[in-house]
Amino acid sequence: MWLLVTCFKYWLEKNDSGFGIREVDELIAGAAGLPPNSCGFTGRCHEFVTVDEQGSFYTCERMSSEWFFGNIMSESLAQILAGEPRQRFVRQQILNLPVDCRACEYLAYCHNGCTSFRKNLSPTQVQGKYIYCSNRKYMFHHIREVFGKTLPQMAQNFTAVVMGS
Ligand code: SF4
Ligand code: SF4
Repeated sequence: MWLLVTCFKYWLEKNDSGFGIREVDELIAGAAGLPPNSCGFTGRCHEFVTVDEQGSFYTCERMSSEWFFGNIMSESLAQILAGEPRQRFVRQQILNLPVDCRACEYLAYCHNGCTSFRKNLSPTQVQGKYIYCSNRKYMFHHIREVFGKTLPQMAQNFTAVVMGS
Protein backbone atom coordinates (compact mmCIF):
# COMPACT_ATOMS: atom_id res chain seq x y z
CA MET A 1 0.00 0.00 0.00
CA TRP A 2 2.71 2.49 1.02
CA LEU A 3 4.40 2.06 -2.37
CA LEU A 4 1.27 3.06 -4.28
CA VAL A 5 0.61 5.99 -1.96
CA THR A 6 4.26 7.09 -2.28
CA CYS A 7 4.12 6.81 -6.09
CA PHE A 8 0.92 8.82 -6.20
CA LYS A 9 2.40 11.49 -3.89
CA TYR A 10 5.53 11.66 -6.03
CA TRP A 11 3.43 11.99 -9.18
CA LEU A 12 1.47 14.83 -7.58
CA GLU A 13 4.58 16.66 -6.41
CA LYS A 14 6.30 16.29 -9.77
CA ASN A 15 3.33 17.97 -11.46
CA ASP A 16 4.62 17.20 -14.93
CA SER A 17 2.09 16.34 -17.63
CA GLY A 18 4.76 14.36 -19.51
CA PHE A 19 5.48 12.11 -16.56
CA GLY A 20 3.31 9.08 -15.85
CA ILE A 21 3.33 6.03 -13.59
CA ARG A 22 1.22 3.36 -15.23
CA GLU A 23 -0.41 1.98 -12.09
CA VAL A 24 -1.12 5.49 -10.82
CA ASP A 25 -2.48 6.58 -14.20
CA GLU A 26 -4.87 3.64 -14.19
CA LEU A 27 -6.00 4.31 -10.62
CA ILE A 28 -6.64 7.98 -11.38
CA ALA A 29 -8.56 7.06 -14.53
CA GLY A 30 -10.65 4.57 -12.55
CA ALA A 31 -11.32 7.03 -9.74
CA ALA A 32 -12.45 9.51 -12.40
CA GLY A 33 -14.73 6.94 -14.01
CA LEU A 34 -12.68 6.49 -17.17
CA PRO A 35 -12.12 3.10 -18.84
CA PRO A 36 -8.81 1.35 -18.07
CA ASN A 37 -6.01 0.53 -20.51
CA SER A 38 -3.59 -1.88 -18.82
CA CYS A 39 -4.39 -5.58 -18.93
CA GLY A 40 -4.33 -5.79 -15.12
CA PHE A 41 -7.32 -3.45 -15.02
CA THR A 42 -9.36 -4.43 -18.08
CA GLY A 43 -10.30 -8.04 -17.33
CA ARG A 44 -9.30 -9.10 -20.84
CA CYS A 45 -6.51 -11.61 -20.22
CA HIS A 46 -8.02 -13.89 -22.84
CA GLU A 47 -6.86 -11.44 -25.53
CA PHE A 48 -3.20 -12.16 -24.72
CA VAL A 49 -1.32 -15.31 -25.71
CA THR A 50 2.16 -16.69 -25.37
CA VAL A 51 3.62 -18.86 -28.14
CA ASP A 52 6.65 -21.04 -27.49
CA GLU A 53 9.24 -22.27 -29.97
CA GLN A 54 7.28 -25.52 -30.49
CA GLY A 55 4.20 -23.58 -31.64
CA SER A 56 2.22 -24.15 -28.44
CA PHE A 57 -0.21 -21.42 -27.40
CA TYR A 58 -0.82 -20.50 -23.78
CA THR A 59 -2.26 -17.58 -21.87
CA CYS A 60 -0.07 -14.62 -20.97
CA GLU A 61 3.44 -15.62 -19.88
CA ARG A 62 2.63 -14.99 -16.22
CA MET A 63 0.49 -18.11 -16.15
CA SER A 64 1.46 -19.88 -19.36
CA SER A 65 2.12 -23.34 -17.93
CA GLU A 66 -1.35 -23.47 -16.35
CA TRP A 67 -3.41 -22.89 -19.49
CA PHE A 68 -2.52 -24.68 -22.74
CA PHE A 69 -4.74 -23.62 -25.65
CA GLY A 70 -3.36 -25.73 -28.51
CA ASN A 71 -0.52 -26.00 -31.01
CA ILE A 72 -0.25 -24.15 -34.31
CA MET A 73 1.48 -27.15 -35.95
CA SER A 74 -1.71 -29.17 -35.74
CA GLU A 75 -4.49 -26.53 -35.59
CA SER A 76 -5.27 -23.21 -37.22
CA LEU A 77 -5.10 -20.02 -35.20
CA ALA A 78 -8.89 -19.69 -35.47
CA GLN A 79 -9.31 -23.20 -34.06
CA ILE A 80 -6.99 -22.49 -31.15
CA LEU A 81 -8.73 -19.24 -30.27
CA ALA A 82 -12.20 -20.76 -30.53
CA GLY A 83 -11.14 -24.03 -28.90
CA GLU A 84 -12.51 -25.42 -25.65
CA PRO A 85 -9.37 -24.77 -23.52
CA ARG A 86 -9.45 -21.04 -24.28
CA GLN A 87 -13.23 -20.89 -23.89
CA ARG A 88 -12.87 -22.61 -20.52
CA PHE A 89 -10.32 -19.98 -19.54
CA VAL A 90 -12.82 -17.25 -20.46
CA ARG A 91 -15.59 -18.93 -18.44
CA GLN A 92 -13.47 -19.66 -15.37
CA GLN A 93 -11.10 -16.70 -15.22
CA ILE A 94 -12.86 -13.84 -16.99
CA LEU A 95 -16.62 -14.27 -16.58
CA ASN A 96 -16.68 -16.07 -13.26
CA LEU A 97 -16.13 -13.13 -10.93
CA PRO A 98 -16.12 -13.41 -7.13
CA VAL A 99 -19.21 -12.20 -5.28
CA ASP A 100 -17.27 -9.25 -3.82
CA CYS A 101 -16.27 -8.02 -7.28
CA ARG A 102 -19.78 -8.30 -8.66
CA ALA A 103 -20.96 -5.94 -5.93
CA CYS A 104 -17.93 -3.63 -6.09
CA GLU A 105 -18.34 -0.04 -7.23
CA TYR A 106 -14.91 -0.28 -8.92
CA LEU A 107 -15.57 -3.39 -10.96
CA ALA A 108 -15.56 -1.52 -14.29
CA TYR A 109 -12.09 -0.08 -13.45
CA CYS A 110 -10.50 -3.08 -11.78
CA HIS A 111 -12.07 -6.30 -13.11
CA ASN A 112 -10.56 -8.34 -10.30
CA GLY A 113 -7.01 -7.33 -11.19
CA CYS A 114 -4.34 -9.47 -12.80
CA THR A 115 -5.47 -13.06 -13.20
CA SER A 116 -2.11 -14.38 -12.02
CA PHE A 117 -2.53 -12.61 -8.66
CA ARG A 118 -5.72 -14.13 -7.33
CA LYS A 119 -6.56 -16.43 -4.49
CA ASN A 120 -9.66 -18.11 -3.20
CA LEU A 121 -11.03 -16.47 -0.10
CA SER A 122 -13.75 -18.98 0.74
CA PRO A 123 -14.98 -22.37 -0.49
CA THR A 124 -18.00 -20.66 -2.06
CA GLN A 125 -15.82 -18.47 -4.25
CA VAL A 126 -14.78 -20.65 -7.18
CA GLN A 127 -12.85 -17.82 -8.71
CA GLY A 128 -10.16 -16.23 -6.56
CA LYS A 129 -10.05 -12.56 -5.74
CA TYR A 130 -7.21 -10.21 -6.62
CA ILE A 131 -4.73 -10.33 -3.75
CA TYR A 132 -4.22 -6.54 -3.84
CA CYS A 133 -7.94 -5.79 -3.78
CA SER A 134 -7.84 -3.75 -0.56
CA ASN A 135 -4.92 -1.67 -1.91
CA ARG A 136 -6.86 -0.84 -5.02
CA LYS A 137 -9.99 0.07 -3.13
CA TYR A 138 -7.99 2.25 -0.78
CA MET A 139 -6.28 4.05 -3.68
CA PHE A 140 -9.51 4.66 -5.58
CA HIS A 141 -10.97 6.21 -2.41
CA HIS A 142 -7.79 8.12 -1.63
CA ILE A 143 -7.52 9.63 -5.12
CA ARG A 144 -11.16 10.67 -5.00
CA GLU A 145 -10.54 12.38 -1.67
CA VAL A 146 -7.41 14.17 -2.91
CA PHE A 147 -9.01 15.51 -6.08
CA GLY A 148 -12.50 15.87 -4.66
CA LYS A 149 -14.94 17.76 -6.82
CA THR A 150 -12.34 18.46 -9.52
CA LEU A 151 -12.19 14.80 -10.55
CA PRO A 152 -15.26 14.80 -12.85
CA GLN A 153 -13.94 17.95 -14.54
CA MET A 154 -10.52 16.32 -14.97
CA ALA A 155 -12.18 13.31 -16.55
CA GLN A 156 -14.18 15.54 -18.88
CA ASN A 157 -11.05 17.45 -19.96
CA PHE A 158 -9.16 14.22 -20.49
CA THR A 159 -11.95 12.71 -22.56
CA ALA A 160 -12.20 15.90 -24.63
CA VAL A 161 -8.46 15.79 -25.38
CA VAL A 162 -8.52 12.09 -26.29
CA MET A 163 -11.69 12.39 -28.40
CA GLY A 164 -10.47 15.62 -30.01
CA SER A 165 -13.66 17.47 -29.17
S1 SF4 B 1 -11.44 -3.59 -5.99
FE1 SF4 B 1 -11.50 -5.68 -5.15
S2 SF4 B 1 -13.68 -6.22 -5.06
FE2 SF4 B 1 -13.46 -4.44 -6.44
S3 SF4 B 1 -13.31 -5.34 -8.49
FE3 SF4 B 1 -11.23 -5.03 -7.69
S4 SF4 B 1 -10.64 -7.00 -6.75
FE4 SF4 B 1 -12.87 -6.98 -7.01
S1 SF4 C 1 -2.46 -12.52 -16.38
FE1 SF4 C 1 -1.99 -10.45 -15.63
S2 SF4 C 1 -0.23 -9.78 -16.85
FE2 SF4 C 1 -1.20 -11.52 -17.93
S3 SF4 C 1 -2.67 -10.60 -19.40
FE3 SF4 C 1 -3.77 -11.07 -17.51
S4 SF4 C 1 -3.70 -9.16 -16.33
FE4 SF4 C 1 -2.10 -9.04 -17.88
